[in-house]
Order: sequence, then C-alpha cells, then structure tokens
Amino acid sequence: MKNIALVAHDNRKPDLIDWVKWNWEELISHRLYCTGTTGKLVEEALKNKQGKGHKFEIIKLKSGPLGGDQQLGALIAEGKIDMFIFLWDPMTPQPHDVDVKALLRISALYNIPTACNRATADFMISSHLLNKDYKPILKDYSEYLERDI
Ligand code: PGA
Repeated sequence: MKNIALVAHDNRKPDLIDWVKWNWEELISHRLYCTGTTGKLVEEALKNKQGKGHKFEIIKLKSGPLGGDQQLGALIAEGKIDMFIFLWDPMTPQPHDVDVKALLRISALYNIPTACNRATADFMISSHLLNKDYKPILKDYSEYLERDI
C-alpha cells in the first residue's frame, strides 16, 4: 500500500476529480492524503465506490492556502508520502505561491514521484512499481550536515 498525496488548484480540480474517478479501482488499495478542499471533492467523488470490502482511506489536511501545503511538505520530509499528484495551475497566480514552491522543492529534495499534469499521473498510476516496495534513492547530505560553521 502506498501513501498517495492528491492536491489540485481550483481550476485543475475538475481534472483531478475526473482522474480519480477514472482510476478509483487502482486507488482504493492505497491511502490518500489531500489538502482540505481537494480532499472534500475526492471523498464526494469516491463515496459510492467500494471494492472487495475495501473502503477509501482519505486523510484531509488543512486547505492548501491555509497551511495544508506546508502540512503535506512536513509529511514528505518525514518520509510518509510515496507518490504525489499535484495539479497546480500554471495560468493563475496563487496567494500561497511560496507554499506551492516550497512543496515542489521538498518533493524534489526527497525524490518523491510527483506528477504535475494528468499525463504524468497516468504514467505513474499504471507503473509496475506502484505495487512494489520502492524506496526512492536519497542524495547523501552528510557533508552538508557536517559542514564547518
Ligand atoms: P485545497 O488546496 O485543496 O484546499 O484547495 C489546494 C492547494 O494546495 O492550493
């Protein structure tokens, strides 16, 4: 089971919801983490879907602009997220742009598979690695941690 984070900006939410409905049978065996509003919509979209006695496990963080992006960044730093679908909006300025940037930075730092568009999300959800034990290789930061100050 993987811990999959799902986040979409307002203009991209319909896309994410459509993607979630399309892929619910794959998603049901994983734990989903969402920012607040995305999570509400995902829950709504999946409420009638159940497979083999499984129920969706959806953890809703705060709404992104109210700290949810930072909560998710902290989960990534703690090694609690395995995969990240982040449909951010390339056409609309966001009030929490710095949080968005921080979230993308931390997902790059921890080498978390991250999809910023639906096509990449499609490739990730159909990867044979999805149901395997996969640990992203982390860069060795010991030199940085032990630097002279
Ligand atoms: P939301 O947050 O799901 O609460 O709308 C999305 C985001 O991070 O901007």
